[in-house]
Amino acid sequence: MRVWTVANQKGGVGKTTTVVSLGGLCAQRGHRTLLVDLDPHGSLSSYFGLDPEAVKPGLYELFRNDGAMDPDMLRETGVDDLMLLPASTALATLDRQLGTRKGMGLILRRALDALHGQFERVLLDCPPMLGVLMVNALAASQRVVIPVQTEFLAVKGLERMTRTLSMIQQSRGHEQPHVIVPTLYDPRTRASVETLSLLRDDYPDSLWDDVIPEDTLFREASKQAMPLTVLRPWARGSQAYRRLLTYIEAAGDDDRYAKVMGNDAAI
Ligand code: ADP
Ligand code: MG
Repeated sequence: MRVWTVANQKGGVGKTTTVVSLGGLCAQRGHRTLLVDLDPHGSLSSYFGLDPEAVKPGLYELFRNDGAMDPDMLRETGVDDLMLLPASTALATLDRQLGTRKGMGLILRRALDALHGQFERVLLDCPPMLGVLMVNALAASQRVVIPVQTEFLAVKGLERMTRTLSMIQQSRGHEQPHVIVPTLYDPRTRASVETLSLLRDDYPDSLWDDVIPEDTLFREASKQAMPLTVLRPWARGSQAYRRLLTYIEAAGDDDRYAKVMGNDAAI
């Protein structure tokens, strides 16, 4: 089982779109895939027609029950081999309720361990703020995908995110591979072109050397509650996500069970 976190401490950069698109592709490639909505706004859950105000049981109940998995938490998405563990708005209260309890950072990881064998790919859709949910996602995953909108303000959010990553890596005592993915790229705008060249200068090692283009079909696909990559495999945006998935798969991931380090218990 490979677990990837999609995170950036900024909203509107394409995190949820990346989770849906890559998830759809993984499922199409025949991998049993689980998408997990960790954002209290529940945009990923809404994408597939669930109401984050009402959905139950979901990730909130999982945390309240110390990671005990209830099969009812796993919902169909309408795409074969693609399941969803939804978020509810109640998740917003978790930090206050449980944030300082010991062992809180590993709840998701333990829950996913219990699903080993049931899923081959797991994608975690993070909220745009650092808190107990993002810490759980980072602790549970082997790889981090950081979408960055190619516009001037986005670089600030990226700096925050990479600082968070190195902080967590220090406490874990080992590196977590990550890839920065330029999104919403429009070559006709100065903002896109200049931001991309800035990213290339500042993050030469972790920047994916390709882009996810701006493609209005993503919004169309969300209206139909389907990943664009499934609905229109030949759309420009779908092709770009296919290249991204090929890149991530080729990078490979160690078996997560070989990776458990003593320091992880400190999270
Ligand atoms: P986040 O999860 O980071 O908040 P979303 O994935 O929800 O961001 O994207 C924000 C908005 O931008 C959504 O309306 C989505 O449909 C749109 N969007 C995301 N990626 C693209 C893209 N490559 N081209 C066009 N629109 C996009
Ligand atoms: Mg989102």
